[in-house]
Amino acid sequence: MPVPDTWGRPLRNLRLSVTDRCNLRCQYCMPERDYVWLPRSDILDFEEISSLVDVFADLGVDRVRLTGGEPLVRRDLPELVRLLAQKPLLKDIALTTNGVLLAERAAALERAGLKRVTVSLDTMRPDRFQALTRFDDHARVLAGIEEATRLGFTAVKIDAVIIRGVNDDELVPLLEYGRRVGAEVRFIEYMDVGGATRWSRDKVVSRAEMLGALARRYGPIHPVVEESSAPAERFRLADGTTFGIIASTTAPFCRSCDRSRLTADGLWYLCLYAARGTDLRGPLRAGASRQELRELIEGTWSRRADRGAEERLALRDRSALVPVTTLRRDPHLEMHTRGG
Ligand code: SAM
Repeated sequence: MPVPDTWGRPLRNLRLSVTDRCNLRCQYCMPERDYVWLPRSDILDFEEISSLVDVFADLGVDRVRLTGGEPLVRRDLPELVRLLAQKPLLKDIALTTNGVLLAERAAALERAGLKRVTVSLDTMRPDRFQALTRFDDHARVLAGIEEATRLGFTAVKIDAVIIRGVNDDELVPLLEYGRRVGAEVRFIEYMDVGGATRWSRDKVVSRAEMLGALARRYGPIHPVVEESSAPAERFRLADGTTFGIIASTTAPFCRSCDRSRLTADGLWYLCLYAARGTDLRGPLRAGASRQELRELIEGTWSRRADRGAEERLALRDRSALVPVTTLRRDPHLEMHTRGG
């Protein structure tokens, strides 16, 4: 049985950020000119990550998602996937990537045992992609998605953050593209996480607005009824096409959140909005036994009461979560460090 927290939420989903580096500069995540990076000597090697995952798996974690930063900038990532794929307690190993390096890496990842891939893609327009990410890599991302859909992954998904005045006119083109290549699209509300220093409430396109826009184009939309702790609510168009909406900003799902995050330097965060994490690298490198690590993780999770997104929703005056000066002092507050 997975360990429950104070609300009975199980310790089940672990997001592993394998690097804080990224090869894009999306304006909703990394809009600044320069960043303070984690010291290289602090970054966990794959053996260390694997040892920590063993302890998490003993406590109920059966789903792992590799993220970052951009996980594919760690060249030997298939090696980590191979280590994880050998663990019988893990049912699912997934990857979230911006797709830039995916076309060249997907086959090796699939051979290593990766099951599912989610690619972030916010626009079908190359000029807009360049404005949004500061890199001219749109064609490479599309090639990555298309290569992934040709391989044997159980699922390929596309995640699109929708921002008013930026790409809110692209719900239909993104959905059509996903349908064409066989990748389910999930629309994400713009979140006021650390790093989103340009966030403001008026730029958030709510789930209700997105459904309204899609219904105007496609007619009635029906919810897909399913039992799941996944963040996306799924919907079906009349022709059977399904898509998801992740309404973390206007309709948070803290009550069913079984996710936690391990940064590339071994800090463990129980909520995307949490100010502090638990240092696992220190004890691991100091030689803590599997039992000692287990007690630390179990004790920390059993005291978990976080419901960051709901607390943000309750704020009357809501603006960017963390000022740039604070982010520079503690890069662990950044979404790209914590792992989205
Ligand atoms: N580099 C990888 C990628 O692009 O998918 C993995 C890391 S990225 C931080 C993970 C996800 O977080 C991406 O889908 C990204 O769009 C999303 N994200 C980043 N900042 C966000 C924000 N302010 N609101 C909503 N989603 C955000």
